[in-house]
Formats: sequence, C-alpha cells, structure tokens
Amino acid sequence: MNRALRLAVDMDDVQAPLVSPFLDFYNPRHGTAFRAAEFKTYSLPEALGISLEDSIAEMRLFYRSGLLDKIPPYPEAQAALRILKAEGDSLYTVTSRFGEAIPVTKRWEAQNNPGIFTDIYFSANGHVGIGTLSKKIICQKLSMDAIIEDDQRYATECAEAGILAFLLERPWNEGYAGHENVFHVKDWTPIIDGLQRMRRGERPTRA
Ligand SMILES: [Mg+2]
Repeated sequence: MNRALRLAVDMDDVQAPLVSPFLDFYNPRHGTAFRAAEFKTYSLPEALGISLEDSIAEMRLFYRSGLLDKIPPYPEAQAALRILKAEGDSLYTVTSRFGEAIPVTKRWEAQNNPGIFTDIYFSANGHVGIGTLSKKIICQKLSMDAIIEDDQRYATECAEAGILAFLLERPWNEGYAGHENVFHVKDWTPIIDGLQRMRRGERPTRA
C-alpha cells in the first residue's frame, strides 16, 4: 500500500523565481547588468561583489518593495504541488526568507497555493546568518521524508541527516558534486516520479 509522504518544499527559485526578479530590482539602481543565468553561487556577496551587510540591506529593500507579492509562481511547480497534494502527501513550505518577507510569504501562499500547504516554516538563513533553526533541523523535527530545494548547501545538509533531497538544476548548483541522498533533477517530472516510488517504499531512481 502506498504511504503518504511528508515533504518540505523550498520557496525561492523552487516555487517561484527570486534571483531574477531581485536582479530586475537591483540592476537599474546600481547601473549593473547581472543575470540569473550567470549566478554560479547562491551567495549574494560573492555573486554581486558586495559586503554581507550590503547584501542583507539590498534583500530587505527588495522585501519591502512590494515586488515580492507580485512574483508569479512557476506554473510547473504549482501544478506539481497539486499532484502531490492529491496523492495525500503533507506539504510544508520551508524557506530561509526573513524579516519583512515573512508576512508577504504567508499572503503569497494563501493566494497562489490555497489549501496545499499544512504550514510554512522560516528557517535560519545560512548565507546571511539570520534566524535560528536550520532547514535540516526543521526537517528532522517534522519527520520529513524529502526536501525539494535549489540550494545545494541546504540539500546536502538534509541529505547527510538521511533526508532525501531533490535538487532542482539552477545555474548556482551547476557544479554540484553529489551525495547519495541528493537527486539532482532538471525539472519536476523526476521529482513526481521519485516521490511515487518513495510512497511504494522504494528509492527514487537516477536519470
Ligand atoms: Mg531556494
């Protein structure tokens, strides 16, 4: 018999784009021309060549801009989440957004994914040193079966704790070195397939 799963789903660049709309906000104000496709790291100070302090300030400005509310979800992610919910899985958004983004995220989920998520958890942000509980700890506490992520650092931390991770291919995880519990996937199709296997008590297969 199939077993329903408990799943953590990242927000930024998994449910909806973040780097791209953030750069649309950042570039004209700084006379720069950064593109998401060129981001080889998820660390903003590294990618933008600015201090950690400035990168936090920039993210807060973006959070306060009103633009975060308006980012459309990835249609593929929205459709996949509905499929998983229909399979009976318990879904939780687990995001390292902080501060002003917290109420916006709750509104955004209510608007774009009504009835899909059991709850939203705001984890520590390992890149900026804000927050307390890591995604790994939250996933352990909530007995998650798997996490869907685009940040190789969070995916690997969960994988090392025995939680399967689906790492969606993005420019910043292109050179991902691999872990036996991390499934580096092009899109949501192998995620849906892998989770179906997990409900049957099997392991996902690699593409
Ligand atoms: Mg993300």
